[in-house]
Order: sequence, then C-alpha cells, then structure tokens
Amino acid sequence: MSWADRISPAVRSIPPSGIRRFFDIAAEMKGVISLGVGEPDFITPWHIRESCVYGLERGYTSYTANHGLLELREEIAKTTDRDYNVRYEPNREILITVGVSEALDLALRAVLSPGDEALVPEPCYVSYKACVTLAGGVPVPVPTVMENQFRVTVEQLEQLVTPRTKVLLIGYPNNPTGAIMPREELLRIAGFAKKHDLIVISDEIYANLTYDAEHTCFASLPEMRDRTILLNGFSKAYAMTGWRIGYAMGNADFIAAMTKIHQYTMLCAPITAQVAAVEALRHGQDTMKKMVAEYDCRRRLMLDGLCNMGLSCFEPKGAFYIFPSIKNTGLKSLEFAEELLKAEKVALVPGDAFGESGQGYIRCSYATSMANLNKALERIGRFIDKRLNR
Ligand code: PLP
Repeated sequence: MSWADRISPAVRSIPPSGIRRFFDIAAEMKGVISLGVGEPDFITPWHIRESCVYGLERGYTSYTANHGLLELREEIAKTTDRDYNVRYEPNREILITVGVSEALDLALRAVLSPGDEALVPEPCYVSYKACVTLAGGVPVPVPTVMENQFRVTVEQLEQLVTPRTKVLLIGYPNNPTGAIMPREELLRIAGFAKKHDLIVISDEIYANLTYDAEHTCFASLPEMRDRTILLNGFSKAYAMTGWRIGYAMGNADFIAAMTKIHQYTMLCAPITAQVAAVEALRHGQDTMKKMVAEYDCRRRLMLDGLCNMGLSCFEPKGAFYIFPSIKNTGLKSLEFAEELLKAEKVALVPGDAFGESGQGYIRCSYATSMANLNKALERIGRFIDKRLNR
C-alpha cells in the first residue's frame, strides 16, 4: 500500500481549494493584477497594531484561558448586544478561536455524528463543504441562483431536508456572491430550522461590510438564539487576516462542547491577537467605517464597469466580492479565468470553486485599490470584446 493510499478517505475525498490552486499559477507570472484574494488590502489600523506592541512590552506572551481573555469575551458580548440586541454570557457562551476558520471546524465537529447531513446553500465559501466532510458529515448543497439574488428559499430547503439533516450552515453577507438576506426571508428560514429541529451555524464574518442594507443577525430572530452557533471574527472588518482571531457564540452546551475540542487541539488563540482584538472593538469603529466606505466606492466602480461591458451582474450588498455571469462568453468559469490570466494577466476565481452552482460565474474581489480595479476592468473589457468579436 502506498503512503498516499494510507491517507484517510475523508481527506482524500475533498478537493484542494479551488482558490489556492489557481493562485499558484498566477504567483509565478509577472504584472498580474489580482482580484482573487478575499483579503483586505488595508494594513491593520495603527492603534490596533500599537496595542499589540504595548502588550508585548508588558510581557503578554503566555497562554490565555482556553475560552480566551475574559476582557475580550466581555467586549464581544457588549458589541453583539449593542449591534444586534443578542445577549451572551461571556463566561459560558463565548469562545475565542483561531479565526472563524477554527470556529467553523469546531462547531461542525461538536455537533455532527458520522453520516449526519448539513444543508449548505451554494455558491458558498470554499471551506464549508470540506469542513462538513472532515467532521464526518455529509454536505448537501442547496443551489441558489442569480435570478433570486442568490438567496436560499424555504422551498428549496424543504426539498432537500431528510431525517438525517442536523445542521443548516449559512453565510450572509455571502462569499462569493455578495448576497445578503433581509430579515423577512431569514424569518422564514428560522421557521424551517425550528420545524425540522436543526442547528443553524451562521457565519457572519462580513456582518459589518454591508452597503445600502442592514445586516440581520440570525441569532437575533425570535427563538433562534439557542439553536444558533454564531460565528464572527476580525479578519475582514478590521483588516486583521494575519492575526488569526475569531469567535463563536451560542448556548452554553454548544460552547462547552466546542471548547472541549479546542482545549485539546489549539489550547487557545494567540494572546497578542486577543489583546489587539480588544482594542479593535473598543476603538476601531471609525477606521472600520472608513474602510467600509472605501469598499462601497470600489463596489460601485466594479458593478458599473462589469455591467457596461455586457456581463450580467447581481448588485452585491455585502462583503467585498462581485460575482458576474460570464455565460454570454460561451466559456466555462475555469476556461474564462485561465484564458483571461494568460491573455490579460488578471487573476480572479472561477465561480465553480464555490460549488457547482457557481459554474458560469467568476468571483472578483474588490479588496484592492481603485487604480488596480480600473486597470483590471480595462483588461477584462478588452478580453471580452475579443471573445465576442466586438
Ligand atoms: N468565512 C468566510 C465566509 C470567509 O470568506 C472567510 C475567509 O475568507 C472565513 C470564514 C475565514 O476567516 P478567518 O480569517 O477568520 O479564519
């Protein structure tokens, strides 16, 4: 038996991330404009970095409690109450994690038994289905469509729910589509979750990044607080991807179960990042709002630019992605991305990296400068003109 054959079947069954695979090619080329990465182009605001430097000066170099610094849990509780009117008890209902990535993994591992199904609206963040599989569960994709603004409906969910369904995993504002869910529609989803007694894992990492729209926190809906594991973090809103800091909130039983795994596998999130996260919540609102305003300008530029070149575009209302259809070019998503990269040196992500229902779309991230976006639009326009013989 080869070494490769000895790798666990679950690990073998998941594909490598469609984003990473594509970017390895782009990284080797010169002069590429990347609209590929889902990462703010801003450096973490100085006052946040400075708080970390002070923390190091004061000797904060140890482990923290498994749950994370109490100070941070208290700030998170206050912020969540202020923004969404949902109350969590810092000692029992909040866990600080290594990014939302770890929180997602812990949540799934804490609740899924082998063979349990998780409904996952698609297109979705690349980790969702892989993490369900690694937790022993079975991801059940629920395709959403541009015609319905990439919003999942109860009718679709009803068709796919089975007695094995245990989890509904949602992520709004959505990566990669930029879709949000209005409160009335989430209320219907909540009714569905209650009817089938599902646990809802709600990844709200882009909650602060909405444009002309208000974010509704799933746990704030009537009777949803205790059946929801709410995930959030600092990577996107505070431009803190490299700090690796996120958190999960939920009823004490869920959080205790997740903490049990976390204490053996991770011990705790890095103390330096936790100290910085306290500062982000206490004094980072204004700088965060400025970054959001800048994303909004870029969003408009991209929307106008892509529509003007004849691509059919859904207006994103959140996150920092736009997800136009490229079906009129006759190319598949991967072909489009590869040919564009070769011909015009613009890197973006083929839509099917986010699930089969992303076929025929591309994801462009506008977390890059206006200058880069203008150049990229010019190049994409030229590519499409040639392709359509215009
Ligand atoms: N959830 C979504 C929807 C994301 O887009 C990302 C990162 O791109 C993550 C989670 C991971 O975030 P973190 O950096 O907090 O691990």
